[in-house]
Amino acid sequence: MSSSQKPELIVEELHVAVEGKEILKGLSLEVRKGEIHALMGPNGSGKSTFANTLMGHPRYQVTSGDIRFKGESVLELETDERARSGLFMAFQYPVAIPGVSVANFLRAALNARLAPAEPTDDKMPQRRGMPPKEFRALLREKMALLKMDDSFATRYLNDGFSGGEKKRAEILQMALLKPEIAIMDETDSGLDIDALKVVSDGVNTLAGPEVGVLVITHYNRILNYIKPQFVHVMLDGRIVRSGGPELAVELESRGYDWLREAAEVGTS
Ligand code: ADP
Ligand code: MG
Repeated sequence: MSSSQKPELIVEELHVAVEGKEILKGLSLEVRKGEIHALMGPNGSGKSTFANTLMGHPRYQVTSGDIRFKGESVLELETDERARSGLFMAFQYPVAIPGVSVANFLRAALNARLAPAEPTDDKMPQRRGMPPKEFRALLREKMALLKMDDSFATRYLNDGFSGGEKKRAEILQMALLKPEIAIMDETDSGLDIDALKVVSDGVNTLAGPEVGVLVITHYNRILNYIKPQFVHVMLDGRIVRSGGPELAVELESRGYDWLREAAEVGTS
């Protein structure tokens, strides 16, 4: 990990409106490969708005500022183009897809990531993605790495899944897609302990010099399992404090109000 290298993800003074209402009010953040960041904040501070904006959800309008990934602004890119370029987001509320197995879903997702963005040349044979046999071997390898049972791959995606199983599918997807930056947005209602362990074990297994991770969380519980080097606190649409792991410990004992007061003093 070289700190002189340019961060893969650079968010600059981001302002975002939802249905005409400004939610993000100048959020700046940088994440490099090899780093684990935690973004924390109370309900309604704009964490999910930020995550959705990163992935290009059409309802979230960037009114000013920029999101740059690997040196290029992604604001004009569709969600699938962002994913293909190596930005990954584990969805807070994953949808159920009855009739589509976990394995089929993951194969489609991987082939989309591997496919060229545009048809290159009519004369060139189009890449059809990974052959099924190779995919099955890769899937088995990743499931073994994450200590998942083989039978999981044959189940219908998110159909009757527990919280932990949904998270398992997301982590497996992350393992296969090998994103350069992964964003995990946790449910505000909190994960049950099983889901929490799936996410933290998965992140700890997959973290390394080739991926940067941004864990978005309301509760700092998960930080007992994942050790971020950087902690950021978000209040009312912007980051009001950044620090190391000690900041999460301080939040645990003091809550968010002291930062709210500090931020108000700072802006008045
Ligand atoms: P957090 O994830 O930190 O709890 P959110 O980003 O979900 O915060 O919400 C921040 C604010 O944006 C809230 O006031 C919420 O009501 C509003 N908001 C977020 N998404 C939408 C949406 N799709 N439509 C309308 N308001 C939204
Ligand atoms: Mg949220």
